[in-house]
Amino acid sequence: MSFTSAHNDHLDPDKHLHQDEEPETPQLTPQQKAQVAKLRNEIYRLKTRLFAQPRTPITKESLFEGCPEGDFEWDSEAEDVGNAWNCGESDCETGWHESIQVIERGRKDGKTWFVVLEDSDSGSGDYQPCAGWDEREGDEVAQSILDDLWFHLYGRSIEHFAGWAEYCIDAAITGNDPLDNWVFGNSCEPNSAIEAARDNVKYLRKMKRLQTKHLKPKKLRPNEHSSILPSSPHQRRAI
Ligand SMILES: [Zn+2]
Repeated sequence: MSFTSAHNDHLDPDKHLHQDEEPETPQLTPQQKAQVAKLRNEIYRLKTRLFAQPRTPITKESLFEGCPEGDFEWDSEAEDVGNAWNCGESDCETGWHESIQVIERGRKDGKTWFVVLEDSDSGSGDYQPCAGWDEREGDEVAQSILDDLWFHLYGRSIEHFAGWAEYCIDAAITGNDPLDNWVFGNSCEPNSAIEAARDNVKYLRKMKRLQTKHLKPKKLRPNEHSSILPSSPHQRRAI
């Protein structure tokens, strides 16, 4: 158990000083507050439902679809836009971070690998393998590894839109834009931030429909299920 300053907040004689230091927050109108509450509710509902839905199982074949038969080595480009996530650390200056995903995939001397790497902060380049396998290192492709990959591919897409929607809502409330989402175009003010959150929620809703269609394979067009993945790897180099 740790005793954070928040824990003993009521004992802090300088409490009022700390409050004075908090950033000025733009006052949301009652209508904007209602929009924000509604959006938060919808994000939570959609996310819960998407993660609970029956999943199309990931197979090794599906991950190597379109790959050469022989030796090859494909590394994806780093994502242009990563996932926004909140660390929840009270001593973090920004609260929000953007992680970027890279996928390495290949086959050499009959041994395959499919490795998902993510960095903790966009641009930091501290890519760490977080899912997948590498038969060159003795890994075996177990079903548990494939199931786990679902979270880093489809699950990441869900988190992508949910995370950015949450980020935009936070920006509407605080007026802060630590991930520079509004460097170009509209300035970060409540209405444009709420609108941006709504756009991300629209994508989440579309994912729901796609996943429902998944359950009826006859109606699914060939590439429909993969088109939603923002991280579909580019095929940069083949050996
Ligand atoms: Zn942080």
